[in-house]
Amino acid sequence: MILVSACLLGLDTKYDGKSNTHELIIKYSGLGKYLPVCPEQLGGLTTPRLPVEIIGGAGDSVLANKAKALDNSGRDVTCQFKAGAEQLLKIINTVPISAAILKERSPSCGVNQIYDGTFSHIVRPGQGVTAAVLMKTGLTLVSEEELTEEKLQQLLAADF
Ligand code: SF4
Repeated sequence: MILVSACLLGLDTKYDGKSNTHELIIKYSGLGKYLPVCPEQLGGLTTPRLPVEIIGGAGDSVLANKAKALDNSGRDVTCQFKAGAEQLLKIINTVPISAAILKERSPSCGVNQIYDGTFSHIVRPGQGVTAAVLMKTGLTLVSEEELTEEKLQQLLAADF
């Protein structure tokens, strides 16, 4: 199976109750190889919810207790972000997962970039909290922005 950020598959899991529907990914959903997951919902956050950014670093800094995930009202949701990542770890230890396709710039799912914590649409390098946890396991992580049809077909062919 391939883990996919649920919002990319059209599920309305985004903070604003909408999705990030990605037509190329959905084109291959009939193969039955996708496992949609939303770590923020798995961590106990509601949908809709206020937007969250990581303050003071990226996902690895949150895991090291050197940065926090705060919503734009200042509420600390670090615990829920860590809990969601822990749930994802349980999933990949339960279901055979060959790769993950994750939403770029999300404070949970971002693979190469996240927003910088100023809520002003400025990005910085680094992973979201869940992506940082999954990266430590050695799982192949791909953001939807890196995905070409050829790359997606390769991931699907390599899936077990
Ligand atoms: Fe999508 Fe990930 Fe955000 Fe959930 S946490 S809405 S799966 S980007």
